[in-house]
Amino acid sequence: MCCTGERVNVTREAHTSLIARHFSVSKIVENIQRYFYWPHMLESVSRFIRGCSLCAVSKPSNRKLGLYTPLPMPSRPWESVSMDFAGGFPLSRKGHDYLYVVVDRFSKVCILMPCKKEITVEKQLNFSFKMYGFILDCLLL
Ligand SMILES: [Zn+2]
Repeated sequence: MCCTGERVNVTREAHTSLIARHFSVSKIVENIQRYFYWPHMLESVSRFIRGCSLCAVSKPSNRKLGLYTPLPMPSRPWESVSMDFAGGFPLSRKGHDYLYVVVDRFSKVCILMPCKKEITVEKQLNFSFKMYGFILDCLLL
């Protein structure tokens, strides 16, 4: 059993210590219950964590999320593409360690092009225009 001042200290230590790293309410309560007991522990720990400023700004569950706005559907192939890089692969014989990924949003055709991590935007766009011509809309992921 703990008095009120000790409860706050125990909760703070359980929540903010280097080992705890701002865990959720249930994990903090589970850890505290190994050594301490007080009535309404769940509510007091929950109230403490709701007041934690670091959790308030950094945990995704605390952020207000808006609705996704769907992109307009393309009406023909290669009108709109999405582009991204995948990488960190072992070096190829030509020194490539990344893939430049282009997906046509209309047909879902996916093109993978080997490239280097240091590819410039100019080279990337040159490559795209040479292969596919003018692309009206591109979505960088
Ligand atoms: Zn926290």
